[in-house]
Amino acid sequence: MVQGAVNRHTKLSEEWLQKYVDDWVAFYRKHTKEGKVASYIPVLKKANPSHLGIVISGNNGITIQSGDVSIPFSIQSISKVFTFITACMQRGISYVLNRVDVEPTGEAFNSIMHLEMGKVEKPFNPFVNAGAISVTSLLDGSTPEEKLEPLYELFEKMLGYRPKVNREVYQSEKESSVRNRAIGYYLLEIGALESDLELTLDTYFQQCSIEISLQDLATMGKILANDGEDLKTGKEIIPRQIARLVKSLMLTCGMYDASGKFAAYVGIPAKSGVSGGIIAVVPPRARANELPFLSGCGIGVYGPALDSQGNSLAGIKLLRHISNQWDFSIF
Ligand code: GLN
Repeated sequence: MVQGAVNRHTKLSEEWLQKYVDDWVAFYRKHTKEGKVASYIPVLKKANPSHLGIVISGNNGITIQSGDVSIPFSIQSISKVFTFITACMQRGISYVLNRVDVEPTGEAFNSIMHLEMGKVEKPFNPFVNAGAISVTSLLDGSTPEEKLEPLYELFEKMLGYRPKVNREVYQSEKESSVRNRAIGYYLLEIGALESDLELTLDTYFQQCSIEISLQDLATMGKILANDGEDLKTGKEIIPRQIARLVKSLMLTCGMYDASGKFAAYVGIPAKSGVSGGIIAVVPPRARANELPFLSGCGIGVYGPALDSQGNSLAGIKLLRHISNQWDFSIF
């Protein structure tokens, strides 16, 4: 039985919060057996399916880390949040939204079917592959490095360092990219690419292969929780309007065809990737009760064993449990 319901007897000290989270990670680690690591990108098969870790970085200065928190992993689809932000900062929100919609698909992240079935002129949202590839095509530059430069600058402002592409992951993505190529050709046909197809795909494979840590996800989640502001310096890193837009998309489309369930049962904006990462955002909330992280926090979760929708299976269960225990839901 999982313990740790918050009630009036609960101590909110760091030590107690740490004990709860350790207990929950140990409990949910058992569920990693029910998932499978991604295999369609061959190098991702090397991940250890029993890994599970979480970092919670609070606005109150408290950081809780538990489980496998020191394994670097590729950012994969979580990059879509930040290329979308970058494109909006570069081109303006209306330019980007004229080219990619903000509707959930209810389909797999790499589906092509909905594009063709709906006879759409623009991809459904920036977090499915079709939308993300379109967004990548909007970035300025004539090489992947030039296109991704503002993304790296954004990461550097948020994290204090420039993360790098993991070349092995990048090669593996590139070599196993038939479906993304099919999506790319379809986008080309409907006029939804603003850069050369090869350049766009290469940039997309690189952005997905950027290596990050759980601490990084929690830090970036915290900045989004604060509408783009870094509370440490008081600087606005992401314009508030863009930060709010991206959070609404994370809530409605961030977990692909499991986004509705995640919104209903966990109730916070989040974005997953096939390497097993999840970034989650807990904005400050007004509650009468004494609860942990009332002033908001960013969360990073890593658990490479995935469910059938391509989301970290135990990671979602862990987030759901914590959200319920500590009343994280934004609703
Ligand atoms: N690089 C992966 C792909 O394009 C990203 C997908 C994901 O993380 N869901 O297939």
